[in-house]
Amino acid sequence: MAATAAPDCIFCRIVGGTIPASIIHRDDDIIAFMDIGPVNPGHLLVVPTAHAASLAELQPGDGAKMFTMAQQLAAAVRRSELRCDGINLFLADGAAAGQEVFHIHLHLVPRFRGDAVRFSWPRTQPSRDDLHTHAEAIRAVL
Ligand code: 5GP
Ligand code: ZN
Repeated sequence: MAATAAPDCIFCRIVGGTIPASIIHRDDDIIAFMDIGPVNPGHLLVVPTAHAASLAELQPGDGAKMFTMAQQLAAAVRRSELRCDGINLFLADGAAAGQEVFHIHLHLVPRFRGDAVRFSWPRTQPSRDDLHTHAEAIRAVL
C-alpha cells in the first residue's frame, strides 16, 4: 500500500490494484475509472491517487490535476460512441452533501436529452441584504 493510502479506503484499494476497477487512465497523481453504479453509461470518477478524505485535505495541486483530467475525459466522452449531449461534473464534500466514499473524487456524468437524471435544487429568493451578508461571511475568512 502506498504511503499516502488509508487502510480501509475502497478507492485506495483500487489505486493499489487489490480490487478490480475498469480503469480509463492512471498516472502518478490521478486515476480515473468507471463508477460501479453509473447513473448513465460512461459515468466515471476522477480520483487523486493520494488519499484525501475531503476538499480540506486535498492538496491544491492534486485538485488542479483532477479538474484538468476531468476536462480531458469530458472531451473523450464527447468523442466516444456513448450517448453524450452534455456533461455534469459533481463533487460531494461531506456526508451532508451526499459523500459516501471518503476519498475525494469528481463524478463525470454524461447526459443526454430525455435521460432520467434529476437534480433537486430548490431555489430561494433572498434579499440583496441577505446576499451581501452571506458574501461578507465568506469574504471575512477567505
Ligand atoms: P459519493 O456519493 O461519495 O460522491 O460517490 C461515491 C461513488 O462511488 C458512488 O457513485 C458509487 O457508485 C461509487 N463506488 C462505490 N464503491 C465503488 C467501488 O468499489 N468501485 C467503483 N468503481 N465505484 C464505487
Ligand atoms: Zn483513499
